[in-house]
Amino acid sequence: MLFNVSQLLQEPVGSSRTYDLVAEPPIHGGTAVLTRTPTGVLVQAEVEVILEADCSRCLASFGYRRRVPIEEVFYQQVDVHTGARMDTEADTDSFLIDKRHTIDISEAVRQYEEMAAEMQPLCRPDCPGICAQCGRDLTQTACVCEGPPLDPRWAALEALKHR
Ligand SMILES: [Zn+2]
Ligand SMILES: [Zn+2]
Repeated sequence: MLFNVSQLLQEPVGSSRTYDLVAEPPIHGGTAVLTRTPTGVLVQAEVEVILEADCSRCLASFGYRRRVPIEEVFYQQVDVHTGARMDTEADTDSFLIDKRHTIDISEAVRQYEEMAAEMQPLCRPDCPGICAQCGRDLTQTACVCEGPPLDPRWAALEALKHR
């Protein structure tokens, strides 16, 4: 998702613009406020994304919606009027305003999305998952296995007893 900030860069520090984000996968919507700072432009966004995941119990693929807050300074590299290179405090991890005064928030969205992703996603809160004994997908069909799944260490002991 791109924003042209050539106008904003010509305005005094503190000037800002608010944008509604258009849907463009994985972005589903949201808003972004861009504010002129001494070193570039501060982007503060609330991005709605659809995250793809595999259920940690039944392994089914599904998408879920997340609201991801983003706050990053994009550093200015060139002067808007002269095109001359400017000194910046940017390091190799910094987000940059490109030489045509465009901000691309896609990479920031990707990084923040990763942080917002569920560690153990569930397709639904009460997903029954897969039977530990017969391997049947319990979201599709019930199984006849009884009791809690056998602990493999006990299974090894059982096997010894029957020798
Ligand atoms: Zn599931
Ligand atoms: Zn079973």
